[in-house]
Amino acid sequence: MTSTFGSCSPYPYLSAGVPGSFAYRTVKDRMPVILTKVIDFLCRNKHEILESSTAEAGSIEDLKLIIGKLSQLRSEMQTNKTLRPLEISSSHLRDGAKWNNELIEAKDSSSPQWFSSPWLLVECYMYRAIYCIFENSIHLKRLDPFSHMKEELIISQKYVLSQLVAYTNDLSQTITSASHLQANFMKLLEISLWANRNDLSLSGGNAETKPGSFLDDVEQLSSHILVNNANELWLYVEQVQKDFRNKELGIIMDNSGLEMVADLCLAVYCISHQLFDRVIFYVKKIPWFVSDTTFDDLQWALHYMEKDVPEMQCFASKCLGYLDSQQFQVVEEGYFTLPLPYHVMNKEDPDLYNKLSQSQLLIFKGDLNYRKLGADIDWPSTTTFEKFLQGFKPAPLVALRTIKAEIICDIPSTKVSELELLDKDWMTKGDYGLIQFIK
Ligand SMILES: [Mg+2]
Repeated sequence: MTSTFGSCSPYPYLSAGVPGSFAYRTVKDRMPVILTKVIDFLCRNKHEILESSTAEAGSIEDLKLIIGKLSQLRSEMQTNKTLRPLEISSSHLRDGAKWNNELIEAKDSSSPQWFSSPWLLVECYMYRAIYCIFENSIHLKRLDPFSHMKEELIISQKYVLSQLVAYTNDLSQTITSASHLQANFMKLLEISLWANRNDLSLSGGNAETKPGSFLDDVEQLSSHILVNNANELWLYVEQVQKDFRNKELGIIMDNSGLEMVADLCLAVYCISHQLFDRVIFYVKKIPWFVSDTTFDDLQWALHYMEKDVPEMQCFASKCLGYLDSQQFQVVEEGYFTLPLPYHVMNKEDPDLYNKLSQSQLLIFKGDLNYRKLGADIDWPSTTTFEKFLQGFKPAPLVALRTIKAEIICDIPSTKVSELELLDKDWMTKGDYGLIQFIK
């Protein structure tokens, strides 16, 4: 079996081996902070965790063992030890062979290390190793160590969420013309894009949304969309609406909280105006990159909204109704928690590739999806989106992403120089966005 990272790529993979790079700062500073937050949470909430329903009559020794293993993982990262093979032979994810093959064959090193191996491999490894520690425990196999952060995020964003769903509820009723239909679609697309700024893996677990400002921010931020193919996308959506009977939209999700609700808003709009007949939400199978959406997160949020103010209740019941009628479907796929880029999906997971190709449109949300679309390679900024994808196109697709990692395509070098003069960290703060579409 050949590995992805063992084979050559047209340009170097992003790596923490480049001092001063965002990848370096992530492995050196951000990732240890995330592990520390998980450890602190477990230490501070021992009794509640052991009494909770996910902990099957747990024992304190089991929890202590987990805390010890997480501390060991943090220490190995900070001292640049070898990435050890994961003990996941019995995992229900059945991903052990693929993971350990990538680790054995990792590029340029027979013993992959935190600060020298490809960043995509290293960062995904940390989250898979955390899950591995829980799934190998006796009593806490199903504990999501980030769920409290994701729930707090939704509670802290309650005001913004109620504004957003009220806005969407209104849009579902008041369409008067084709141009109105288009304008609302574009607006919800931009809302879904900028909601991607909210990312707990970037903020180290802190919720950052300023109450009340989000919908106004979206208006202001249009000029910060560096590539905006929304018009081409809309022309395609109109064509799909005319040409297909059984139209499917796939959304490959990123974060829970505001972003997940913004994606639901776009999906509700698409179904209620028959732009698509069905929306498939692809979520993570295991806790991932702190705030990434899992099936449990989606359910928790809808049930939370169901008990809230009337506009939230109305929106949640609409979503739950679409789930009942299967116009909304939530799909968990193991490929999304492998360290693999998307251009090898056809070979590594042909079933998923075929499933994605059933959709007339795929929306890839956020930075990690973008990094996987471009194989986490240090592409010249002028690379075309088509070249960046290296042949991956199960269906026409759009990347919606606020820029939070040093990977990009389709941007003239003069624009890059201009942005660097304005702010040398412009690629890592989520201040700029992309709507990149390929038919
Ligand atoms: Mg994320």
